[in-house]
Amino acid sequence: MRFQYNKYSQVVAKGLVDAGIAGMEHTTCTTLDVDDVLVESTAPADVSTDDVIAHELAHQWFGDLVTCKDWQDIWLNEGFAAFCEALYFEKSKNEEEYQNYIIQMAKSYLRGTRNPRSKTPIRAIVTNKYEHPDDLFDHNTYAKGGIVLHMLRKNIGDEDFRNSINTYLERFKHKTAETDDLRQIFEDVSGINLQLFFDQWIYREGHPRLNIQSSDDNGKVRLAITQVQEGDAFVFPLDVKFFLPDTDDKSDNVQKERIEKVQISEKDFSKTFDIPMNKVGYIAIDPEFKILKEVLSSNIPQEFISNQLRNGKTIFERLAAAQFLIENPPFSKIALEIMKTVLSKKYLSSSVRIEAIKVLDSSIITGNTDDEAYEYLKQAIKETNDPEVRKEIIGSIGNFKKIDSFDLLKEIAENEKANPYERYSAAIAISNTGHEESIPLLKSLANTTSFHNLVARGAIDSLKIIAINSNEVIRKDIEIFIIEKAKNTEESRLRRTATSALGYLGRYAENKTKIIEQLKSFLQDDSFYVRNTACVALANALEGTADSAALEELEKMAKEDPNSEVRSTAKVCIKIIKGESSDEVRGSFSELEKETKIDSKYKSEKFDLLESVDTLY
Ligand SMILES: [Zn+2]
Repeated sequence: MRFQYNKYSQVVAKGLVDAGIAGMEHTTCTTLDVDDVLVESTAPADVSTDDVIAHELAHQWFGDLVTCKDWQDIWLNEGFAAFCEALYFEKSKNEEEYQNYIIQMAKSYLRGTRNPRSKTPIRAIVTNKYEHPDDLFDHNTYAKGGIVLHMLRKNIGDEDFRNSINTYLERFKHKTAETDDLRQIFEDVSGINLQLFFDQWIYREGHPRLNIQSSDDNGKVRLAITQVQEGDAFVFPLDVKFFLPDTDDKSDNVQKERIEKVQISEKDFSKTFDIPMNKVGYIAIDPEFKILKEVLSSNIPQEFISNQLRNGKTIFERLAAAQFLIENPPFSKIALEIMKTVLSKKYLSSSVRIEAIKVLDSSIITGNTDDEAYEYLKQAIKETNDPEVRKEIIGSIGNFKKIDSFDLLKEIAENEKANPYERYSAAIAISNTGHEESIPLLKSLANTTSFHNLVARGAIDSLKIIAINSNEVIRKDIEIFIIEKAKNTEESRLRRTATSALGYLGRYAENKTKIIEQLKSFLQDDSFYVRNTACVALANALEGTADSAALEELEKMAKEDPNSEVRSTAKVCIKIIKGESSDEVRGSFSELEKETKIDSKYKSEKFDLLESVDTLY
């Protein structure tokens, strides 16, 4: 359906993001945050806020033209707007970007299900059980809502999907709609009964959590899939793809695949497929991501998974394989081979190349490394132009902890023409080199200005890592430097980084007084991000001390802070300071710590580096 109003404007205002708002979709006139969407002239070419622009524009149809009838149907506004972000990337870029976006959304949803601050980490998309409508604006509404629309699309096909949405907009324009109205239209148009689909994915909480076992049944492939989530089994059709490189026909390397459709209706499913185990190149479960699920464990051979990452047809297949290998790192020789294959395929989406480097990274971090990979990466950085891939390579070079990488990293970090995310990554990596000039270099980088202060923030984080691995004299010197930096910066992102760093330094300081004093003053900061980070930093510095002055301040935050996220963060931090370190509290805290380093709603790859700084937990 075409745009229904006579004009569309976007106005910008100051301070929205610091108040926790990305934008507001008033009919024909959206309000956006000036610092968020009007990127500075120093912004690198690959920085984009297209997702927010697309999201708010989509609301002109989903939210403004057709409005959800009640709060419980808010996903009809927000799930659609989130899904339209992915559609925007499909249309403006390509199918691969769409697939990548859907996967990022799924990751965002799964992270949300572990979010300690969420009152309902797992709930049905449509529910009338909530204390305040604000509680509904979460990962279940946005990310899961968006993914469910992707699943519906895959379920009924593009044409029926498009026609259904047109009918929905036509029938309900200038009116309100509820979820069941949408179901009826999808059913009328497609002729498919969708009651079970809506019941399971929209009116029921959670998602299938799977354990997958493969075995050799007299030479044939046997798969056992077990659902381990609480409650009943999810019922769904599942595609299982067997990739069969044709070993008989060596002449023209013909490759074949076979997709078997199985019906999962019990918690335990198993089947022997008429496919010889020794012909299989890889086995992809749900290669088109038709089902939102979480694979908790799988014993599918690592060789198959490596093949899937190297040769997968869809981005869904490749990213699923990469995720598995990152969590179950292969030997570095294998990781290097995978990375070489993937990096050599220039046509591949950068998301896949980045994931392949992360696989190598995860194998390096386990201490399982060799010089060949290091030399390869040093060569690769010279031959790669894509800034996102370069960032990842730079981080990886740092993880080798080699003193001779200092010059290379210094050159990138100091290069004002280089992409600021690369410079950020290089600044962090410098902490790993052990070079004697690291500290003066990082101090000078901390005083530079760059897009979103990325270089200075990288330098502060890097100094923090050096400090916590050094003696008291060096720690004290870095502490004084960071406190000064924290006090004197106007920009909230840099203040936030310095605040977080002080929490770590406080943990190790013999005398914490100055640090605590500074952190307490940040509890009154204008930016809710900074206040949130200050709570976490205080808890980090004072864990288990039951420090009464800090507890008093945090109790006040938990009751009085205007922002609900800050209030719930303060509650978790109080428990940490009191030393109530149950696994649950500790798990919550470590999630919070990671979160305070994340910048974006669907933390895109761009922000992964901000999260990858060594953490104590
Ligand atoms: Zn929205």
